Amino acid sequence: MTPALSPTRSHNVAVIGAGPAGLVAARELRREGHSVVVFEKQKQGGGTWIYTDEVESDPLSVDSTRSIVHSSVYSSLRINGTRECTGFRDFPFVVRSGVSESRDPRRFPSHGEVLAYLQDFAKEFAIEEMVRFETEVLKVAPALEGEIGKWRIESTEKEKRVRRDEIYDAAVVCNGHYVEPRLAQIPGISSWLGKEMHSHNYRIPEPFKDQIVVLIGNSSSAEDISRDIATFAKEVHVACRSNPADTFIKQTGYNNLWTHSSIECVHEDGSVVFQNGKTISVDIIMHCTGYKYHFPFLDTNGIVTVDDNRVGPLCKDVFPPAFAPWLSFIGIPWQVLPFPMFELQSKWIAGVLSGRIPLPSKEDMIMEIKTFYSTLEVQGIPKRYTHRMGNTQFEYDNWLASQCWCSETEEWRKEMCSANVVRMEAHPETYEWEDHHLISQAYQDFSLYS
Ligand code: FAD
Repeated sequence: MTPALSPTRSHNVAVIGAGPAGLVAARELRREGHSVVVFEKQKQGGGTWIYTDEVESDPLSVDSTRSIVHSSVYSSLRINGTRECTGFRDFPFVVRSGVSESRDPRRFPSHGEVLAYLQDFAKEFAIEEMVRFETEVLKVAPALEGEIGKWRIESTEKEKRVRRDEIYDAAVVCNGHYVEPRLAQIPGISSWLGKEMHSHNYRIPEPFKDQIVVLIGNSSSAEDISRDIATFAKEVHVACRSNPADTFIKQTGYNNLWTHSSIECVHEDGSVVFQNGKTISVDIIMHCTGYKYHFPFLDTNGIVTVDDNRVGPLCKDVFPPAFAPWLSFIGIPWQVLPFPMFELQSKWIAGVLSGRIPLPSKEDMIMEIKTFYSTLEVQGIPKRYTHRMGNTQFEYDNWLASQCWCSETEEWRKEMCSANVVRMEAHPETYEWEDHHLISQAYQDFSLYS
């Protein structure tokens, strides 16, 4: 255990980003007695949930000089889990009385309702007073080379009118990881003459009227966007490498939407050849192939790296041992219920920083990370899936909860989440199922916080 921290010490902490992770981090850090500054480059909090019509000038988002649009949310997006599961543990995502009629009361509401919920959260806990809006962090680096403990944060406010260079005791990185696109490798693509884009730049289906579109990917985005576009496009084809090679399935309820195996190659004449032997003349290929972790401001002299989408080394996906606890990350794991996990990660970081929660020694953390990486290797899990949690998320959340002396994940949340995964696989086009007993258990818990 780390003996260096005296109990309940307060520190000056910089939080980078005021999305859901940064908002809840700020709350937990302040609750623990730390003094907090949140840096947010946008005009308001809410991160990816701030929908915008704006898209990037480069539809594939590979041009490093492009001006970056943070949100990847499209107009029709509804959350893919229930609102009961989605919300923070102690600030339930319920339909609030007395709020405006523009709110969306559905169990799987639109993105605008999530943003409104986050605004409610920020207001309830007076978080905005800790946030410097329109302030972009340009650099986060150890304040003194070779000395672990303090961080130099360089930031620029409101289109470079104010530049700051400050020292903080700790930095908590909450910059989101759905901004920097990953692209599929397609044989022949350099001479293909059709259009290409990434789903990061997709907003509405109308521009795809009468087009023949191929989407690559099997994420919720590919699922949602293919159905969205099918209402306007001439044909929509979804290519998915996890499908068996001979896959060719017409989607029920649609006469212009098909699922294939992966793309074998593309040709100069605009044709796309699938592994199943079908060849189609295509107008647009859309990569719904996810994102890369990207920390353009972080300068750790190569100690924390992103290698094939593995951010490391990180103990429990949060602390790099060399800098623990003075540098931490929130929101690295994926295929999770993010908000409750952010809440627990934030409590852990806040408690460790104050010295109330002990951290394993640096050597133990390094050993744990090595063991974890070897387990992944033995299981044949590629590096790029290091942070994918899926079924193990509740074990992870419960471990965090145990460190923070919090209750474990509620049984109803686990059951509802699992049932939803099954529902989504079987009926991705519908949002309802019978789970009244779980809803009533959830609302019993929520009454503790009303
Ligand atoms: P973000 O929400 O991305 O916030 C990061 C913040 O950091 C932003 O405000 C950004 O402006 C700021 N920032 C970044 N860099 C800097 C810098 N250098 N200086 C200052 N500020 C900076 N989750 C669900 O729970 N349910 C869903 O249904 C769901 N659907 C999704 C659909 C899509 C298309 C996408 C992209 C994501 C979806 N998610 C969903 C996941 C979603 O990303 C998380 O819910 C959550 O928004 C992540 O929060 P975050 O705070 O980590 O990141």
